[in-house]
Amino acid sequence: TTSPLPYDRQAVINLDAIRANVRHLREIAAPARVMAVVKADAYGHGAIPVARAALEAGAGWLGVAHFTEGLALREAGIDAPILAWLHTPDTDFAAGIEAGIDVGVSGWELEPVVKAARQLERPARVHLKIDTGLGRNGCPPALWEDLINRAVEYQELGLLRVVGVFSHLAVADEPHRPETDEQVDRFREAVAVAENAGLDLEVRHLANTPGTLSRPDAHFDLVRVGLGIYGLSPFDGQTPEELGLVPAMTLRARVANCKQVPPGQGVSYGLNYLTTEPTTLVLVPLGYADGIPRSASGVQVAIAGKRYDVVGRVAMDQFVVDLRTSNAGDLTGEEVILFGPGPDVPDAHDWAIAADTINYEIVTRVSPRVPRYYT
Ligand code: PLP
Repeated sequence: TTSPLPYDRQAVINLDAIRANVRHLREIAAPARVMAVVKADAYGHGAIPVARAALEAGAGWLGVAHFTEGLALREAGIDAPILAWLHTPDTDFAAGIEAGIDVGVSGWELEPVVKAARQLERPARVHLKIDTGLGRNGCPPALWEDLINRAVEYQELGLLRVVGVFSHLAVADEPHRPETDEQVDRFREAVAVAENAGLDLEVRHLANTPGTLSRPDAHFDLVRVGLGIYGLSPFDGQTPEELGLVPAMTLRARVANCKQVPPGQGVSYGLNYLTTEPTTLVLVPLGYADGIPRSASGVQVAIAGKRYDVVGRVAMDQFVVDLRTSNAGDLTGEEVILFGPGPDVPDAHDWAIAADTINYEIVTRVSPRVPRYYT
């Protein structure tokens, strides 16, 4: 969408905020470079516009989980280095390699990557992933030397080029935890094994957003930052502002209905909320089909600079706000802000607390049903 008005419901994405966040993270990471992580449609912000804004602000790389996400960026004409790190045996490796997308390899992927490279008569660019402790993807340390040796052989045959070695942090959002020290140490050892085997690596990369912000010793050559470029804080008890970040997404809607009700009025399915006084109920046209968590309880929204409680169950398309006054007037068509930047409105973290989740999930789950508007 390119027009802000009129709108029923809208996720406004501030690309200036994305650019400012990327520049800020670049300064923190320097001399390491920044990979902007734009998987999952840029955490709900829109992969293509966010990728372009991040590159304009000096990000040197883009990171995605799936080749298909990288291919969509290539189809949009983006020619920056892209790394895709999550594959299955059904993945179309040839399509990714042909599009010049770097492949994250934890082990089994090496053979299908080499097969595709042979077919294409083009070496694949590979980043070898070591599991330094997260226990998800990544080569177990015991098998690392073997993986390196196999990769070196294929590189000597001209079938691939090992561009990078990487790993992913497990608890960097809790900076006091000692496991991050262990991960950094194991990563150093894994890099040394690769280099001793003769690999001339372009990039060693370990840190996500919390690692970038709290662990300079984890920066290496490249940091892979997602949450931070969207202006959100990975740390409990530290706001984006305190970290020098600006939240990029504002989720808003127009009031669809506004009415006076007596005390004892039940609200939404289950009628598990009852009004306690003569009051005004406002209907907001966003629901769980739009990615609003049905489980959110005790959360607030902002209308005309004031905060009000969301009451009753969130439904598929809509939820209700109790203004707790009977003389609010007719607010039909007024703007309701669910979350966004600034001190006067709730933020994604408030919604995360109310829904017993994390801010990552709150923005990422805003569904394609909600039009995006870019400023
Ligand atoms: N690197 C990898 C491998 C990831 O899966 C992710 C996202 O979860 C990131 C980096 C970015 O993490 P964050 O959003 O905390 O910066």
